[in-house]
Amino acid sequence: MSEITHPTIKDGWFREISEMWAGQAMTLKVKKVLHHEKSKYQDVLIFESEKHGHVLVLDNVIQCTERDEFSYQEMITNLAMMSHPNPKKVLVIGGGDGGVLREVVKHECVEEAILCDIDEAVIRLSKEYLPVMAEGFKHPKTKVHVGDGFKFLDDYKNCFDVIITDSSDPEGPAESLFQKPYFQLLHDALRDGGVITTQAESQWLHLPLIQQVKKDCAAVFPVAEYGFTTIPTYPSGQIGFMVCCKEAGRDVTKPLRKWTPEEEVKLCRYYNSKVHEAAFVLPTFAAEALKK
Ligand code: SAM
Repeated sequence: MSEITHPTIKDGWFREISEMWAGQAMTLKVKKVLHHEKSKYQDVLIFESEKHGHVLVLDNVIQCTERDEFSYQEMITNLAMMSHPNPKKVLVIGGGDGGVLREVVKHECVEEAILCDIDEAVIRLSKEYLPVMAEGFKHPKTKVHVGDGFKFLDDYKNCFDVIITDSSDPEGPAESLFQKPYFQLLHDALRDGGVITTQAESQWLHLPLIQQVKKDCAAVFPVAEYGFTTIPTYPSGQIGFMVCCKEAGRDVTKPLRKWTPEEEVKLCRYYNSKVHEAAFVLPTFAAEALKK
C-alpha cells in the first residue's frame, strides 16, 4: 500500500502551523501515517509518532496524543465533576476521541453520560486508532449522539448536573461553542447547582479571546473561573478551561468532593485535589487581564 501523505508532514515531521498561534509551531516526528480522510466537517489525520503514540489531528491542529492526553481529559472532566456534590447525569459536547467519557464514568455516582459530537468520523476513527481513549464509548453508562452540540442543547432544559464542552478550536465547526448564546444554552440545560467546563484556550496565546469568553460566561453564570493545565503538545504547553456554576457562592476553585489519596493515584495520572486548586492560581499577567 502506498505511503499516505499530508500537507502538514514534511521530511518525516508533522508541523502544526496556524494563525491561531502565529510564528510558532509544534513539530512531532512521524513514524507512520495511519489514516487520512476529509469528513463532512473537518480534515481528519491520524499518525503514529516517534515519542507520543498515536496522534489525532483535525484541520491541521493536534487534538490529542496518547502520551499526554490524560492531562487534558482528567482536568476538563474533574474540575467540573469535583465541583458538583453528586453528578448523576453528565453531557459531553465534542469529545469524539472518547477520553472525557472515560474520565466521567470513573465517578461511581454517575448514572448516565451522554456524548454529542458533530463528526461520526472522529468517533469511528478513535475507536480504531485511539483505543485507550475510546474505551469511554464501551462503558454501559454511556450513550453517543452524532450532531451539532449547539442544536442538541436546544432540546434539553434543566436536565444535566455537569456539561463538559471538549471542543476543537473556534475555527471551523466549534466556532459557535465559544459564544454567549451557547453559554446560555449550557446554563438552561443544567439542573440547579449544575457545573460546566469548556475548552478555553491558552493564556500565553489567546488572552483577548479568554477575556471575552469569561465576560460572556460571567453574564450567564454567577460563578465563572478560568483554570489551566500543562500539556506538552498543545500550543505553548498549556490549555485552559472555563469552570462555571449555576449556583451563586459555589467555590469551584476548591474541590467539593475528593477521592482518597489512594483512589487519586489509582484513578488519575494528573488530577488530584491539590492540582485542582493550583489550576486556578494564575500568573500575574493573566490574572490582571482576566480581572477586567
Ligand atoms: N482536546 C481537544 C482540544 O482541546 O482541542 C478536543 C478534542 S475533541 C476530538 C474535539 C471534538 O469537537 C471533535 O471531535 C469535533 O468533531 C468536535 N466538535 C467540533 N465542533 C462541534 C460542534 N459544533 N458540536 C459537537 N462537536 C463538535
